[in-house]
Amino acid sequence: MKKTVYVRSIPIGGNNRITIQSMTNTDTEDIEATKSQVKQLRQAGADFVRVSLPSMDCMKTVKELAKGDIPIIGDIHFDHKIAIAAVESGIDKIRINPSNFPKQGLADTVKACKEANIPIRVGVNKGSVKGFEADAQKLALLTLESAKRIEDLDYDNLVLAVKASDVKTTVKAYRILDKMCSYPLHIGLTEAGPPQFGILKSAVAIGSLLLDNIGDTLRVSLTAHPVEEVKAAINILRAAGKDTEFIDIIACPTCARTCINVQEIAAILYEKTKDIRKKGKIAVMGCIVNGIGESKGAKFGVAGGKDKSSIFLDGKIIKTVNNEEILQELLDMAKRYL
Ligand code: SF4
Repeated sequence: MKKTVYVRSIPIGGNNRITIQSMTNTDTEDIEATKSQVKQLRQAGADFVRVSLPSMDCMKTVKELAKGDIPIIGDIHFDHKIAIAAVESGIDKIRINPSNFPKQGLADTVKACKEANIPIRVGVNKGSVKGFEADAQKLALLTLESAKRIEDLDYDNLVLAVKASDVKTTVKAYRILDKMCSYPLHIGLTEAGPPQFGILKSAVAIGSLLLDNIGDTLRVSLTAHPVEEVKAAINILRAAGKDTEFIDIIACPTCARTCINVQEIAAILYEKTKDIRKKGKIAVMGCIVNGIGESKGAKFGVAGGKDKSSIFLDGKIIKTVNNEEILQELLDMAKRYL
């Protein structure tokens, strides 16, 4: 089992729930814009929000965000003075690549984190490894070497990440890293691209790892508004069976036997139930042929008929309704049984 580290009071690792994070894309020096986006991400379901800290002028924002109700992670490259200032300004965790820091700068940064008792995420990205023909094995070893530079300073409050922008390298690197360390792992595919394909690539990479029980916190990295990252992360956790507290809409793909508007009914039910934090299933099946059997796992559902359709509850037909009444009937049942 992985070690547990705490970001403010939220655990990462051990047997704890897999947490979701995203990253703002506002100018961090713009306090109001950044605060507003952090709020949006929190409302969407993020557990932590990371902000880039490219300059000392970002510290005013860090101080403001540190007063808020969601833990903030500072992303710092090259300048250890910014890292130390961020810790002193109340940041809850920092993300660094230790090889980007001078030796003494790293020592001073680690000392500051130790005093504040905040974790460090050691993030090695394939793209940031200069002059390095990085395969998965090398990336994993490089991540461990980076972590060792901090361990040698007598600090092990760490989370590790090793990311590439291609699915195979990322998955292989994390599998290797998982076997070789007991630190919690931050998983994700870096630079996954526009959401249309980026979500799929991320789902394949993150989903493969989750099914191997690898990963303690995750970020879906998309070229999109960061709220989309949080939504995708939530859905990946659900699809991988790591979050079961939601309403799963089982709906058939439709075919020549379809008697009802499965697509519309399923889409409306999805929209109306997507924020319910309870375990449940609703089935929308286009005909009675497969509908009966396939609705059995659902709390309730419909199997379409020519003019009238069968409504199920706990695997039994409880009534038939006119086809134009199906949607309302299912919405009423959602209120009653979910
Ligand atoms: S449940 Fe019926 S309508 Fe839907 S795909 Fe299967 S056979 Fe076709």
